[in-house]
Amino acid sequence: MGTTKKKFRTESPANPPLTPAQQTTLNLIRLPANERTTYNSTLRAQIQLELEKETVNLVDQIDEPLWVSKRQLQAVTSCEVLYEKQEGESFEWKIPMTRGQIFHKCVELSVHLSPARTAPELVDEAMTSIMNRGDGLASFLVDLTDIERAEIRSEVASLLQTYFDTFPPLQNSWSPTTELPRKVLLHRGKIVLQGRFDLTVGRPDELTAGRVLIELKTGRAVPHHLDDLRFYALLETLVVGVPPALLASFYVDAGTVQVEVVDEDLLRSAIQRTSSAVKRLLQLRLEEREPERRASGSCRWCPAATDCRPGQAWLEEANGSGVW
Ligand code: SF4
Repeated sequence: MGTTKKKFRTESPANPPLTPAQQTTLNLIRLPANERTTYNSTLRAQIQLELEKETVNLVDQIDEPLWVSKRQLQAVTSCEVLYEKQEGESFEWKIPMTRGQIFHKCVELSVHLSPARTAPELVDEAMTSIMNRGDGLASFLVDLTDIERAEIRSEVASLLQTYFDTFPPLQNSWSPTTELPRKVLLHRGKIVLQGRFDLTVGRPDELTAGRVLIELKTGRAVPHHLDDLRFYALLETLVVGVPPALLASFYVDAGTVQVEVVDEDLLRSAIQRTSSAVKRLLQLRLEEREPERRASGSCRWCPAATDCRPGQAWLEEANGSGVW
């Protein structure tokens, strides 16, 4: 194969030269201005009404607000028995979970720290910042051995270098944000929908969509990542009044991005999934129904699997021992 000395560049000569992978990512996460949708100014109120309609008969029966994030939506949509089991268990940090948290902190620092740092420098600064904040993750990291912390540093620095090599450098003119929180109150705060976007670029222009929501994934791709982002599109619309232009999952290990264009059909399906899941969460809280078992890949690690008939049947089938 031949080699070439040609440099890949964005249109403006002021922009930094990009690797082919960075250029591919940039092409996918930037929607041309003439393809961006302009929405009706009443969209936010319509969506709020739709979401509240489904739960209007249940909400007055709860004393404490129901907090709903993408995790609860995914759990209750998957298997309600597993959801209840997880809600009753206390959370415990494990080493593999820490790398995503530290990676996200590195990206946050890389956007806001000047002058620019190398990947290993950012990992050190991120770990120091997390270990000084006094929460559960801080205590977990402090209690690890030097070798365990060094292994985490090494893994996250490698991931971060892949991210720098494959994601275009963020420019101030793109209005980037990291860890952007969004909170929506339904029924005067009886139900709180919440989320935190890993990374956003762009912004709306009056009623025309322009913001891109990007989730940075340090694990493998799973189907519910799409649903998570569609829920975030709802949150963005309910807070800002204009939906995002694009939703993107960036898989850091592979340096690849999966993108979905936001339109009214996507918002409608997100409203349906969210309102039906919130209704089920309320019914479970009020003990108005028995939790439903729904077998899926989660049965492989579910703590209730031993005594669960549908779970065992699913596992037998999946392991190839089902009778024809
Ligand atoms: S084993 Fe499967 S079906 Fe049974 S409770 Fe767990 S996740 Fe649900």
